[in-house]
Amino acid sequence: MWVAILLLTATVLGAGALVGVVPPARTTQWLKPMLAFSGAYLFALTITHLLPEALTLLPEQPHQVGYWVLAGFFGQLLLEVLSQGIEHGHVHAAGAQERGHVPLLLLAALVVHSLLEGSILVKSDGSGEVSRNFYAIVLGVALHHIPAAVALATLLRLRLGSFGRVWPWLGVFALASPIGLVFSNYVVLQQLLGSGVYAALLGFVAGTFL
Ligand SMILES: [Zn+2]
Ligand SMILES: [Zn+2]
Repeated sequence: MWVAILLLTATVLGAGALVGVVPPARTTQWLKPMLAFSGAYLFALTITHLLPEALTLLPEQPHQVGYWVLAGFFGQLLLEVLSQGIEHGHVHAAGAQERGHVPLLLLAALVVHSLLEGSILVKSDGSGEVSRNFYAIVLGVALHHIPAAVALATLLRLRLGSFGRVWPWLGVFALASPIGLVFSNYVVLQQLLGSGVYAALLGFVAGTFL
């Protein structure tokens, strides 16, 4: 479990730190293949592990899982409006009046997205496929946070002027998934698995990955 928490935190902080040392032109060069790979990898995990597990957990109401997948898909579209597509590496130039301000709405959308992703990472007998492929899924989520962390660090440096002021906000993003993971595994595990909420959550997050 500690490995998962460390990996999720370190990838975001590490990718953010890269922005401080690597020139932007080089970053965009490897960001595209990274984005394509992490998207494809997550899609594969969604089809082979997340959706089958959600359906296994709710064998009586498979169509309900379908509704949650749809809700996740459209929920992600909404989050992307708020986050301006930063999850997949978009950095929009800031207007003069935005200089010096932290884009709180964007950050909130990214944190919600990341919290949800962390919350499905459950390692327990009750989470079947997810538990058996726990580290493969953790890796998928961690990898796909790299382009987002690079975009966030780039955007915040542009807005805030110095890299030193970027760290606290990058830290907020870095901790979102681990907090979701800890909450699901240690605080609400029984309620989550016993009530069908976990199946709904899995369906929803699977929808965001489509
Ligand atoms: Zn986009
Ligand atoms: Zn994501």
